[in-house]
Amino acid sequence: MKFSTDGLVIREQNIKEQDKVITILTRSNGIITAFIHGAKSIKSPKSAASGLLTYSRFVIYKNREHYIIDEGNAQEVFMPLRRDIEKLTLAQYFCELLSELAPEEDTAEEHLRLALNALYVLGKGNRSPTVVKSAFELRLMSMSGYMPNLICCDGCACYEHEMMYFLPEKGIIVCGDCIGNYNQHKILTGSGVTHAMRHCIYSEFKKLFAFNLTKDAQPVLEYASEEYIHSQINRKFKTLEFYRSIKS
Ligand SMILES: [Zn+2]
Repeated sequence: MKFSTDGLVIREQNIKEQDKVITILTRSNGIITAFIHGAKSIKSPKSAASGLLTYSRFVIYKNREHYIIDEGNAQEVFMPLRRDIEKLTLAQYFCELLSELAPEEDTAEEHLRLALNALYVLGKGNRSPTVVKSAFELRLMSMSGYMPNLICCDGCACYEHEMMYFLPEKGIIVCGDCIGNYNQHKILTGSGVTHAMRHCIYSEFKKLFAFNLTKDAQPVLEYASEEYIHSQINRKFKTLEFYRSIKS
């Protein structure tokens, strides 16, 4: 069976001199792993289409057990990311997170849109990479069955409080008046970072990356978002560790 789809290459692995295996976040089938024969021939359009962080149109053949790339044409290679090691590493972390959270063998329209937009905004450079990272993480978690409840304080239902806390294990917020009743890991997010987190989760998609946060508040947002992922998904991300080690 042959079908056409488009997708972002989120992993590549060489297997033989001319062959490789790639993992693609496709629009129609979610995450799939596919073989490519002759992928390293420079003349082959499949070669350009199958590189990591390349968005391509594919014709894919599926036999009983495997997906095989029949044709591939690169549409977007996100060149600005490839000139900046910090952004490139962050983009690779996005790919690792997608491979953990995006659907498999199911449509992934929204996940693909989020991924492509995040890479585009990151490359463009008019938003802080820290803000792009947290927006991507929190939105991806929310789309993938891990939406925290940041509407109001879990204790008294107040919406605004200067001393608002985020509790990553439960994915809730609790105000300074109620926090004494909660004996768990808590992060003081105040009203600014709480508002930013709400934006990441509840805003219209087209406005997702269009927010700013002061330099002082960015590390708090980053910490809250990372702690949330860490408490919900019990695994380490190698690319995130590498990103931390090189971050300026
Ligand atoms: Zn409260």
